[in-house]
Amino acid sequence: MKLYNLKDHREQVDFETAVKLGLGRQQGLFFPVKLPIIHSDELSEILKMDFITRSTEILSKFIYHEISKSELHKHVKKAFSFKHPIKTKITENIHCFELFHGPTLAFKDFGARFMAQMILLLNKKNESVTILTATSGDTGAAVAHAFYGMKNVRVIILYPKGKISELQEKLFCTLDKNIKTISINGSFDDCQKLVKEAFNDKKLKELIGLNSANSINISRLLAQICYYFEAFSLISEEQRKNLVIAVPCGNFGNLTAGLLSKSLGLPIKSFIACTNSNDTVPRFLKNGVWDAKKTVSTISNAMDISQPNNWTRIEELFHRKKWNLKELRFGSVSDSSTKETLKELFELGYISEPHAAIAYRLLRDQLKKNEFGLFLGTAHPAKFKNIVEKILKNEILLPDELKSRVDLPLLSHNINPVFSKLKKFLLEK
Ligand SMILES: *Cc1c(COP(=O)(O)O)cnc(C)c1O
Repeated sequence: MKLYNLKDHREQVDFETAVKLGLGRQQGLFFPVKLPIIHSDELSEILKMDFITRSTEILSKFIYHEISKSELHKHVKKAFSFKHPIKTKITENIHCFELFHGPTLAFKDFGARFMAQMILLLNKKNESVTILTATSGDTGAAVAHAFYGMKNVRVIILYPKGKISELQEKLFCTLDKNIKTISINGSFDDCQKLVKEAFNDKKLKELIGLNSANSINISRLLAQICYYFEAFSLISEEQRKNLVIAVPCGNFGNLTAGLLSKSLGLPIKSFIACTNSNDTVPRFLKNGVWDAKKTVSTISNAMDISQPNNWTRIEELFHRKKWNLKELRFGSVSDSSTKETLKELFELGYISEPHAAIAYRLLRDQLKKNEFGLFLGTAHPAKFKNIVEKILKNEILLPDELKSRVDLPLLSHNINPVFSKLKKFLLEK
Protein backbone atom coordinates (compact mmCIF):
# COMPACT_ATOMS: atom_id res chain seq x y z
CA MET A 1 0.00 0.00 0.00
CA LYS A 2 1.40 3.34 -1.05
CA LEU A 3 0.37 6.52 0.67
CA TYR A 4 1.02 10.16 -0.08
CA ASN A 5 1.35 13.16 2.18
CA LEU A 6 -1.64 15.47 1.83
CA LYS A 7 0.56 18.53 2.38
CA ASP A 8 3.24 17.48 -0.08
CA HIS A 9 2.15 14.89 -2.63
CA ARG A 10 5.77 14.18 -3.60
CA GLU A 11 6.31 12.43 -0.28
CA GLN A 12 5.17 8.85 -0.80
CA VAL A 13 5.62 6.12 1.77
CA ASP A 14 4.69 2.49 2.25
CA PHE A 15 2.29 1.16 4.89
CA GLU A 16 5.04 0.38 7.37
CA THR A 17 6.47 3.89 7.24
CA ALA A 18 3.04 5.47 7.50
CA VAL A 19 2.23 3.41 10.57
CA LYS A 20 5.56 4.26 12.19
CA LEU A 21 5.61 7.95 11.33
CA GLY A 22 1.95 8.76 11.88
CA LEU A 23 2.47 12.10 10.15
CA GLY A 24 4.52 13.13 7.14
CA ARG A 25 6.51 16.28 6.43
CA GLN A 26 4.94 19.57 7.56
CA GLN A 27 2.65 17.45 9.69
CA GLY A 28 0.77 16.26 6.62
CA LEU A 29 -1.54 13.27 6.90
CA PHE A 30 -1.04 10.18 4.78
CA PHE A 31 -3.66 9.12 2.28
CA PRO A 32 -3.86 5.97 0.11
CA VAL A 33 -2.68 6.30 -3.49
CA LYS A 34 -5.10 3.58 -4.57
CA LEU A 35 -8.65 3.36 -3.30
CA PRO A 36 -9.66 -0.28 -3.64
CA ILE A 37 -13.18 -1.23 -4.69
CA ILE A 38 -15.25 -4.25 -3.74
CA HIS A 39 -17.73 -5.05 -6.51
CA SER A 40 -21.28 -6.08 -5.75
CA ASP A 41 -20.85 -9.85 -6.24
CA GLU A 42 -17.91 -9.91 -3.88
CA LEU A 43 -19.70 -7.59 -1.51
CA SER A 44 -22.59 -9.97 -1.00
CA GLU A 45 -20.10 -12.76 -0.29
CA ILE A 46 -18.17 -10.59 2.14
CA LEU A 47 -21.31 -9.58 3.99
CA LYS A 48 -22.07 -13.22 4.76
CA MET A 49 -18.70 -13.82 6.46
CA ASP A 50 -18.07 -13.67 10.19
CA PHE A 51 -16.64 -10.44 11.59
CA ILE A 52 -12.99 -11.57 11.77
CA THR A 53 -12.86 -13.20 8.33
CA ARG A 54 -14.67 -10.30 6.72
CA SER A 55 -12.43 -7.73 8.42
CA THR A 56 -9.37 -9.61 7.18
CA GLU A 57 -10.74 -9.48 3.61
CA ILE A 58 -11.40 -5.74 3.85
CA LEU A 59 -8.03 -4.86 5.37
CA SER A 60 -6.34 -7.10 2.87
CA LYS A 61 -7.68 -4.91 0.05
CA PHE A 62 -5.34 -2.23 1.34
CA ILE A 63 -2.38 -4.14 2.75
CA TYR A 64 -2.26 -7.42 0.82
CA HIS A 65 1.13 -6.44 -0.49
CA GLU A 66 2.80 -6.26 2.91
CA ILE A 67 0.91 -8.83 4.98
CA SER A 68 -0.40 -12.19 3.79
CA LYS A 69 -4.04 -12.98 4.43
CA SER A 70 -3.31 -15.77 6.86
CA GLU A 71 -0.96 -13.62 8.87
CA LEU A 72 -3.37 -10.72 8.80
CA HIS A 73 -6.17 -13.01 9.97
CA LYS A 74 -4.13 -13.90 13.06
CA HIS A 75 -3.58 -10.25 13.96
CA VAL A 76 -7.14 -9.20 13.26
CA LYS A 77 -8.34 -12.00 15.50
CA LYS A 78 -6.09 -10.82 18.32
CA ALA A 79 -7.01 -7.17 17.82
CA PHE A 80 -10.76 -7.75 17.74
CA SER A 81 -10.81 -10.38 20.49
CA PHE A 82 -13.65 -8.81 22.42
CA LYS A 83 -17.40 -8.58 22.22
CA HIS A 84 -18.40 -7.46 18.73
CA PRO A 85 -20.67 -4.48 18.04
CA ILE A 86 -24.35 -4.86 18.79
CA LYS A 87 -27.34 -3.28 17.09
CA THR A 88 -30.13 -2.11 19.39
CA LYS A 89 -33.54 -1.02 18.19
CA ILE A 90 -34.63 2.39 19.46
CA THR A 91 -37.60 3.09 17.17
CA GLU A 92 -38.88 1.31 14.08
CA ASN A 93 -36.54 3.12 11.72
CA ILE A 94 -33.71 4.18 14.06
CA HIS A 95 -31.29 1.75 15.66
CA CYS A 96 -28.11 2.29 17.64
CA PHE A 97 -24.97 0.52 16.50
CA GLU A 98 -23.06 0.03 19.75
CA LEU A 99 -19.29 -0.02 19.40
CA PHE A 100 -18.51 0.15 23.10
CA HIS A 101 -18.27 -3.43 24.24
CA GLY A 102 -14.47 -3.62 24.13
CA PRO A 103 -12.00 -3.55 27.05
CA THR A 104 -12.12 0.24 27.44
CA LEU A 105 -15.80 0.64 26.61
CA ALA A 106 -15.46 2.90 23.56
CA PHE A 107 -15.09 2.36 19.81
CA LYS A 108 -11.44 3.44 20.08
CA ASP A 109 -10.58 -0.16 21.07
CA PHE A 110 -10.91 -1.26 17.43
CA GLY A 111 -8.35 1.17 16.05
CA ALA A 112 -5.96 1.12 18.99
CA ARG A 113 -5.79 -2.65 19.25
CA PHE A 114 -5.29 -3.17 15.54
CA MET A 115 -2.60 -0.52 15.53
CA ALA A 116 -0.83 -2.24 18.43
CA GLN A 117 -0.85 -5.46 16.42
CA MET A 118 0.61 -3.70 13.40
CA ILE A 119 3.36 -2.05 15.41
CA LEU A 120 4.25 -5.37 16.95
CA LEU A 121 4.35 -6.97 13.53
CA LEU A 122 6.34 -4.21 11.86
CA ASN A 123 8.86 -3.84 14.66
CA LYS A 124 10.87 -6.79 13.40
CA LYS A 125 14.12 -5.74 15.01
CA ASN A 126 12.52 -5.21 18.40
CA GLU A 127 13.64 -1.59 18.59
CA SER A 128 12.44 0.61 21.44
CA VAL A 129 9.35 2.54 20.48
CA THR A 130 7.70 5.49 22.21
CA ILE A 131 4.03 5.92 21.47
CA LEU A 132 3.04 9.51 22.09
CA THR A 133 -0.61 10.36 21.86
CA ALA A 134 -3.05 13.07 22.82
CA THR A 135 -6.49 12.13 24.03
CA SER A 136 -9.78 13.85 24.63
CA GLY A 137 -10.64 10.91 26.87
CA ASP A 138 -11.19 7.59 25.15
CA THR A 139 -8.18 7.23 22.85
CA GLY A 140 -5.88 7.29 25.85
CA ALA A 141 -7.60 4.39 27.51
CA ALA A 142 -7.80 2.33 24.34
CA VAL A 143 -4.15 2.93 23.43
CA ALA A 144 -2.93 2.32 26.97
CA HIS A 145 -4.75 -0.98 27.25
CA ALA A 146 -3.81 -2.07 23.75
CA PHE A 147 -0.07 -1.66 24.49
CA TYR A 148 -0.11 -2.45 28.20
CA GLY A 149 2.77 -4.73 29.18
CA MET A 150 4.21 -4.93 25.64
CA LYS A 151 7.96 -5.27 25.53
CA ASN A 152 10.04 -2.42 24.03
CA VAL A 153 7.05 -0.12 23.86
CA ARG A 154 6.67 2.93 26.09
CA VAL A 155 3.36 4.77 25.90
CA ILE A 156 2.97 8.43 26.84
CA ILE A 157 -0.48 9.90 26.91
CA LEU A 158 -1.34 13.59 27.13
CA TYR A 159 -4.80 14.72 28.17
CA PRO A 160 -6.40 18.05 29.12
CA LYS A 161 -6.49 18.34 32.90
CA GLY A 162 -10.01 18.39 34.35
CA LYS A 163 -11.60 18.05 30.92
CA ILE A 164 -12.18 14.32 30.81
CA SER A 165 -14.53 12.37 33.05
CA GLU A 166 -13.17 10.93 36.32
CA LEU A 167 -13.92 7.42 35.18
CA GLN A 168 -12.24 7.96 31.83
CA GLU A 169 -9.17 9.09 33.75
CA LYS A 170 -9.28 6.10 36.10
CA LEU A 171 -9.36 3.75 33.17
CA PHE A 172 -5.90 4.63 31.86
CA CYS A 173 -4.06 6.67 34.50
CA THR A 174 -3.90 3.79 36.97
CA LEU A 175 -1.97 1.27 34.87
CA ASP A 176 1.73 1.96 35.49
CA LYS A 177 4.37 -0.38 33.89
CA ASN A 178 5.04 0.89 30.35
CA ILE A 179 2.19 3.43 30.44
CA LYS A 180 2.90 7.04 31.45
CA THR A 181 0.20 9.67 31.59
CA ILE A 182 0.51 13.46 31.72
CA SER A 183 -2.31 15.88 32.40
CA ILE A 184 -1.80 19.14 30.52
CA ASN A 185 -3.00 22.46 31.87
CA GLY A 186 -4.86 23.33 28.68
CA SER A 187 -7.31 22.01 26.07
CA PHE A 188 -7.21 18.91 23.87
CA ASP A 189 -6.02 21.10 20.99
CA ASP A 190 -3.05 22.13 23.18
CA CYS A 191 -2.25 18.45 23.75
CA GLN A 192 -2.48 17.74 20.04
CA LYS A 193 -0.18 20.66 19.31
CA LEU A 194 2.44 19.31 21.72
CA VAL A 195 2.36 15.95 19.97
CA LYS A 196 2.85 17.65 16.61
CA GLU A 197 5.79 19.63 18.00
CA ALA A 198 7.43 16.46 19.23
CA PHE A 199 7.07 14.96 15.78
CA ASN A 200 8.65 18.03 14.24
CA ASP A 201 11.74 17.55 16.41
CA LYS A 202 13.71 15.21 14.15
CA LYS A 203 16.47 14.46 16.63
CA LEU A 204 14.08 13.68 19.45
CA LYS A 205 12.00 11.55 17.14
CA GLU A 206 14.95 9.34 16.26
CA LEU A 207 16.35 9.27 19.76
CA ILE A 208 13.24 7.82 21.35
CA GLY A 209 11.68 6.03 18.35
CA LEU A 210 8.64 8.24 18.33
CA ASN A 211 5.38 6.91 16.96
CA SER A 212 1.92 8.39 17.09
CA ALA A 213 -1.30 6.63 17.97
CA ASN A 214 -3.83 9.36 17.32
CA SER A 215 -6.66 8.80 14.92
CA ILE A 216 -4.27 10.26 12.35
CA ASN A 217 -2.50 6.90 12.22
CA ILE A 218 -3.59 5.10 9.08
CA SER A 219 -3.77 1.69 10.76
CA ARG A 220 -6.44 2.92 13.12
CA LEU A 221 -8.57 4.28 10.32
CA LEU A 222 -8.34 1.06 8.33
CA ALA A 223 -9.45 -0.98 11.33
CA GLN A 224 -12.49 1.21 11.82
CA ILE A 225 -13.71 0.59 8.26
CA CYS A 226 -14.49 -2.99 9.29
CA TYR A 227 -17.34 -2.29 11.65
CA TYR A 228 -19.31 -0.32 9.06
CA PHE A 229 -19.49 -3.54 7.06
CA GLU A 230 -20.62 -5.33 10.20
CA ALA A 231 -23.38 -2.76 10.68
CA PHE A 232 -24.51 -3.28 7.10
CA SER A 233 -24.50 -7.05 7.51
CA LEU A 234 -26.86 -6.77 10.49
CA ILE A 235 -29.68 -4.89 8.75
CA SER A 236 -32.38 -6.12 6.39
CA GLU A 237 -32.40 -5.87 2.59
CA GLU A 238 -35.07 -3.21 2.86
CA GLN A 239 -33.13 -1.14 5.39
CA ARG A 240 -30.00 -1.38 3.23
CA LYS A 241 -31.68 0.50 0.40
CA ASN A 242 -31.76 3.87 2.13
CA LEU A 243 -29.26 3.71 4.95
CA VAL A 244 -28.21 6.89 6.74
CA ILE A 245 -25.50 6.72 9.41
CA ALA A 246 -25.06 9.46 12.02
CA VAL A 247 -21.54 9.70 13.41
CA PRO A 248 -20.58 11.62 16.58
CA CYS A 249 -17.48 13.53 15.43
CA GLY A 250 -14.45 14.93 17.25
CA ASN A 251 -11.31 14.45 15.24
CA PHE A 252 -13.41 12.98 12.40
CA GLY A 253 -11.53 9.69 12.25
CA ASN A 254 -14.68 7.63 12.66
CA LEU A 255 -16.45 9.48 9.88
CA THR A 256 -13.40 9.17 7.62
CA ALA A 257 -13.49 5.40 8.13
CA GLY A 258 -17.20 5.36 7.33
CA LEU A 259 -16.65 7.29 4.13
CA LEU A 260 -13.81 4.93 3.21
CA SER A 261 -16.21 2.01 3.64
CA LYS A 262 -18.52 3.75 1.19
CA SER A 263 -15.66 4.33 -1.23
CA LEU A 264 -14.91 0.60 -1.05
CA GLY A 265 -18.41 -0.04 -2.33
CA LEU A 266 -20.62 -0.30 0.74
CA PRO A 267 -23.86 1.35 -0.46
CA ILE A 268 -24.50 3.80 2.35
CA LYS A 269 -26.85 6.50 1.14
CA SER A 270 -25.70 9.26 3.41
CA PHE A 271 -23.71 10.17 6.51
CA ILE A 272 -24.48 12.84 9.07
CA ALA A 273 -21.43 14.56 10.55
CA CYS A 274 -22.56 15.32 14.11
CA THR A 275 -20.77 17.71 16.45
CA ASN A 276 -21.41 19.49 19.72
CA SER A 277 -20.93 23.28 19.98
CA ASN A 278 -17.40 22.83 18.65
CA ASP A 279 -18.95 23.15 15.24
CA THR A 280 -16.15 24.21 12.88
CA VAL A 281 -17.15 21.61 10.29
CA PRO A 282 -20.94 22.18 10.32
CA ARG A 283 -20.34 25.92 9.92
CA PHE A 284 -17.86 25.23 7.13
CA LEU A 285 -20.31 22.96 5.30
CA LYS A 286 -22.97 25.62 5.62
CA ASN A 287 -21.10 28.71 4.49
CA GLY A 288 -17.80 27.50 3.05
CA VAL A 289 -15.66 29.38 5.55
CA TRP A 290 -13.20 27.52 7.77
CA ASP A 291 -13.29 29.49 10.99
CA ALA A 292 -12.04 27.44 13.95
CA LYS A 293 -12.98 29.11 17.21
CA LYS A 294 -11.54 28.43 20.62
CA THR A 295 -12.48 24.97 21.89
CA VAL A 296 -15.31 25.03 24.40
CA SER A 297 -15.93 22.38 27.05
CA THR A 298 -19.13 20.39 26.71
CA ILE A 299 -20.68 17.31 28.27
CA SER A 300 -19.66 15.32 25.18
CA ASN A 301 -15.99 15.96 25.92
CA ALA A 302 -14.50 13.45 23.47
CA MET A 303 -15.86 15.72 20.76
CA ASP A 304 -14.42 18.95 22.16
CA ILE A 305 -12.18 19.59 19.19
CA SER A 306 -12.33 22.65 17.00
CA GLN A 307 -9.49 21.79 14.59
CA PRO A 308 -10.31 18.25 13.55
CA ASN A 309 -7.22 16.65 12.09
CA ASN A 310 -8.91 14.19 9.79
CA TRP A 311 -10.95 16.77 7.94
CA THR A 312 -8.33 17.11 5.19
CA ARG A 313 -8.65 13.39 4.53
CA ILE A 314 -12.38 13.73 4.09
CA GLU A 315 -11.94 16.57 1.63
CA GLU A 316 -9.36 14.53 -0.26
CA LEU A 317 -11.65 11.52 -0.43
CA PHE A 318 -14.53 13.60 -1.79
CA HIS A 319 -12.19 15.10 -4.32
CA ARG A 320 -10.76 11.74 -5.40
CA LYS A 321 -14.17 10.08 -5.67
CA LYS A 322 -15.70 13.14 -7.34
CA TRP A 323 -18.34 13.21 -4.63
CA ASN A 324 -19.98 16.47 -3.71
CA LEU A 325 -19.49 17.76 -0.15
CA LYS A 326 -23.04 19.07 -0.37
CA GLU A 327 -24.19 15.48 -0.03
CA LEU A 328 -22.69 15.20 3.42
CA ARG A 329 -25.36 15.96 5.98
CA PHE A 330 -24.32 17.69 9.17
CA GLY A 331 -25.45 19.40 12.33
CA SER A 332 -24.42 20.47 15.80
CA VAL A 333 -26.21 20.00 19.12
CA SER A 334 -25.88 22.16 22.22
CA ASP A 335 -25.45 20.77 25.73
CA SER A 336 -29.03 21.61 26.66
CA SER A 337 -30.43 19.77 23.64
CA THR A 338 -28.10 16.86 24.35
CA LYS A 339 -29.54 16.59 27.87
CA GLU A 340 -33.08 16.75 26.54
CA THR A 341 -32.26 14.07 24.02
CA LEU A 342 -30.78 11.77 26.67
CA LYS A 343 -34.08 12.02 28.52
CA GLU A 344 -36.00 11.35 25.33
CA LEU A 345 -33.95 8.20 24.72
CA PHE A 346 -34.49 7.14 28.31
CA GLU A 347 -38.24 7.43 27.80
CA LEU A 348 -37.86 5.19 24.77
CA GLY A 349 -36.25 2.67 27.13
CA TYR A 350 -32.63 3.31 26.23
CA ILE A 351 -29.84 4.59 28.44
CA SER A 352 -27.32 6.43 26.31
CA GLU A 353 -24.54 8.96 26.91
CA PRO A 354 -23.91 12.44 25.51
CA HIS A 355 -21.89 11.54 22.37
CA ALA A 356 -24.33 9.03 20.95
CA ALA A 357 -27.26 11.22 22.00
CA ILE A 358 -25.99 13.97 19.71
CA ALA A 359 -25.97 11.60 16.77
CA TYR A 360 -29.43 10.27 17.61
CA ARG A 361 -30.77 13.81 17.84
CA LEU A 362 -29.56 14.82 14.40
CA LEU A 363 -30.65 11.53 12.90
CA ARG A 364 -34.20 11.80 14.20
CA ASP A 365 -34.35 15.44 13.04
CA GLN A 366 -32.99 14.77 9.56
CA LEU A 367 -34.15 11.26 8.66
CA LYS A 368 -36.54 11.30 5.70
CA LYS A 369 -39.51 9.05 5.12
CA ASN A 370 -38.44 5.61 3.86
CA GLU A 371 -34.88 6.07 5.12
CA PHE A 372 -33.41 3.80 7.77
CA GLY A 373 -31.02 5.32 10.32
CA LEU A 374 -28.19 4.02 12.43
CA PHE A 375 -26.40 6.18 14.95
CA LEU A 376 -23.09 5.06 16.35
CA GLY A 377 -22.88 4.34 20.06
CA THR A 378 -19.30 5.43 20.60
CA ALA A 379 -18.97 4.94 24.38
CA HIS A 380 -20.61 3.00 27.20
CA PRO A 381 -22.89 5.21 29.35
CA ALA A 382 -21.00 4.11 32.47
CA LYS A 383 -17.96 6.04 31.26
CA PHE A 384 -20.04 9.17 31.78
CA LYS A 385 -21.79 7.88 34.88
CA ASN A 386 -21.87 11.11 36.86
CA ILE A 387 -23.31 13.30 34.15
CA VAL A 388 -25.77 10.68 32.87
CA GLU A 389 -27.04 9.93 36.38
CA LYS A 390 -27.56 13.60 37.05
CA ILE A 391 -29.59 14.04 33.88
CA LEU A 392 -31.63 10.84 34.06
CA LYS A 393 -31.87 10.61 37.86
CA ASN A 394 -31.28 6.92 37.44
CA GLU A 395 -28.38 4.84 38.67
CA ILE A 396 -25.89 3.52 36.14
CA LEU A 397 -24.12 0.30 37.10
CA LEU A 398 -20.41 0.04 36.43
CA PRO A 399 -19.27 -2.78 34.19
CA ASP A 400 -16.32 -4.86 35.47
CA GLU A 401 -13.80 -2.98 33.30
CA LEU A 402 -14.47 0.13 35.39
CA LYS A 403 -15.35 -1.42 38.71
CA SER A 404 -11.89 -2.88 39.02
CA ARG A 405 -10.20 0.53 38.58
CA VAL A 406 -12.26 3.13 40.44
CA ASP A 407 -10.42 2.79 43.73
CA LEU A 408 -6.90 2.77 42.33
CA PRO A 409 -4.76 5.92 42.75
CA LEU A 410 -4.08 8.17 39.73
CA LEU A 411 -0.46 8.02 38.60
CA SER A 412 -0.47 11.01 36.22
CA HIS A 413 2.18 13.70 35.98
CA ASN A 414 1.17 17.28 35.26
CA ILE A 415 2.79 19.96 33.07
CA ASN A 416 1.95 23.25 31.38
CA PRO A 417 1.40 23.15 27.62
CA VAL A 418 5.02 24.02 26.85
CA PHE A 419 7.02 21.85 24.47
CA SER A 420 10.32 22.09 26.38
CA LYS A 421 8.61 20.59 29.42
CA LEU A 422 7.29 17.68 27.43
CA LYS A 423 10.65 17.13 25.77
CA LYS A 424 12.37 16.95 29.13
CA PHE A 425 9.87 14.35 30.25
CA LEU A 426 10.29 12.28 27.09
CA LEU A 427 14.07 12.21 27.50
CA GLU A 428 14.12 11.56 31.24
CA LYS A 429 11.26 9.27 32.12
C1 LIG B 1 -13.20 9.76 20.15
C2 LIG B 1 -14.66 9.84 20.36
C3 LIG B 1 -15.51 10.48 19.47
C4 LIG B 1 -14.99 11.22 18.27
O1 LIG B 1 -14.46 10.34 17.31
P1 LIG B 1 -13.50 10.88 16.16
O2 LIG B 1 -13.08 9.69 15.40
O3 LIG B 1 -12.37 11.58 16.82
O4 LIG B 1 -14.32 11.83 15.35
C5 LIG B 1 -16.87 10.45 19.71
N1 LIG B 1 -17.38 9.84 20.80
C6 LIG B 1 -16.59 9.23 21.70
C7 LIG B 1 -17.22 8.61 22.89
C8 LIG B 1 -15.21 9.20 21.51
O5 LIG B 1 -14.44 8.59 22.41
